[in-house]
Amino acid sequence: MKYISTRGKISPIGFKEAVMMGLATDGGLLLPETLPAIDAKTLSSWKKLSYQDLAFEVMSRFIDDITASDLRSLITRSYQTFSHPQITPLVKKDGVYILELFHGPTLAFKDVALQFLGNLFEYLLAESGDRMNIVGATSGDTGSAAIQGVRGKKRINIFIMHPHKRVSPIQELQMTSVLDSNVFNIAIQGTFDDGQAIVKNIFNDIPFKEKHCLGAVNSINWARIMAQIVYYVYAYFRVSELENCQTVDFSVPTGNFGDVFAGFVARKMLGRSCIEKLVLATNDNDILSRFVTRGDYSTNQVTPTCSPSMDIQLASNFERYLYYLNGEDTKRTADDMATLSIKHCLHFDQDAMTAISNDFMALRVSETEVISTIRDFYAATGYVLDPHTAVGVKAGRQFAANRPMICLATAHPGKFCDAVAKAIGEQPLPPSLAMLQGLPTRCEILAADTTIVKEFINGHAV
Ligand SMILES: *Cc1c(COP(=O)(O)O)cnc(C)c1O
Repeated sequence: MKYISTRGKISPIGFKEAVMMGLATDGGLLLPETLPAIDAKTLSSWKKLSYQDLAFEVMSRFIDDITASDLRSLITRSYQTFSHPQITPLVKKDGVYILELFHGPTLAFKDVALQFLGNLFEYLLAESGDRMNIVGATSGDTGSAAIQGVRGKKRINIFIMHPHKRVSPIQELQMTSVLDSNVFNIAIQGTFDDGQAIVKNIFNDIPFKEKHCLGAVNSINWARIMAQIVYYVYAYFRVSELENCQTVDFSVPTGNFGDVFAGFVARKMLGRSCIEKLVLATNDNDILSRFVTRGDYSTNQVTPTCSPSMDIQLASNFERYLYYLNGEDTKRTADDMATLSIKHCLHFDQDAMTAISNDFMALRVSETEVISTIRDFYAATGYVLDPHTAVGVKAGRQFAANRPMICLATAHPGKFCDAVAKAIGEQPLPPSLAMLQGLPTRCEILAADTTIVKEFINGHAV
């Protein structure tokens, strides 16, 4: 399998190179040259596979430069850290299926991809003899999942900036209580945007980037998308067997479009007879729901909500969908992205709108609706939704048709206890979070200044 850029300016590369490249060097995003279609016979042979065996089969369709036994061992190790034997189990509550993606070390769905990516990086670096310094900024969730993904790994150091005293105490502890010597938490005396600006400045300094082999872990890495395809296929098998049916729908709480794009790829692989609709659910930061319902992709200010991991302005994976919407035309995709960066908006014609509505349905869910969804769902079922999951459940119920609706549960409610308490009162913390209280921590507090952060990285890079 070869990988190309959505902007068409790189020659096709293999999977391993695509993982190490992250963002394509022409500024585009990397995608497989063709998406593998899974025929009915293969599909039925996958039906009974465990999560890990299915992950091997799915990933093998995208990887031809890692041996089968190495890939199997990467997968086994990546999902050993999950606390549930099915890795991503399903529960049925009040007529909808909840796909629980939060049984990894940080209790959010990003673990599914980042546990794998961490092991994959370590494996590729051992092979090449190279090293990598990962630099990122977080508003909470991604940072801890990335840290857990690479803690203790050889040839990798990780530097994660979070805004000092502006992440929740639990989120802060999830990061700063990791004491492995390759993990560096930096509390920036500023905002999340300051942290992001510093990361951007650092990556724009090409000599610095090359000197320290800087790497990123944001959701533009193809390996993250690939790992997420697996649970769509896994959930499809579980639900179609339980309900004795052919076709299911998914509802996905969406921020950067990574998760729902993995669903889009799963649907291309399995076909519409298996996955009919993808519901794209947003919070008040609704650029993606405006795009689907009105063809209006124009940027606004970010509004803080109680589902902070979906508070985004520009969805970094959107370009991947745009490429398919443009009939895999890289020139047109590059032109659209240039227009977007100048005009901060894109508009879509009737043909495009028809294509989009064949792929997605979308709903924006307000803050009040999030709280009332958590409350009503709890009253009806005794099951506690986290605010991100509640966004998806609200939208999923709105669009439920005469086939099963699978709602992705992207975080454990214990991670967002303030919003949950507002809806249904205080809930006990899950043991793995309660355990963090009082643990020793390590964190460097630095001014929100690129030069100062660079000096720190200089002194601690691998
Ligand atoms: C990151 C995240 C999302 C959004 O996923 P995208 O791939 O960015 O669309 C939703 N919920 C939670 C809890 C997250 O951490």
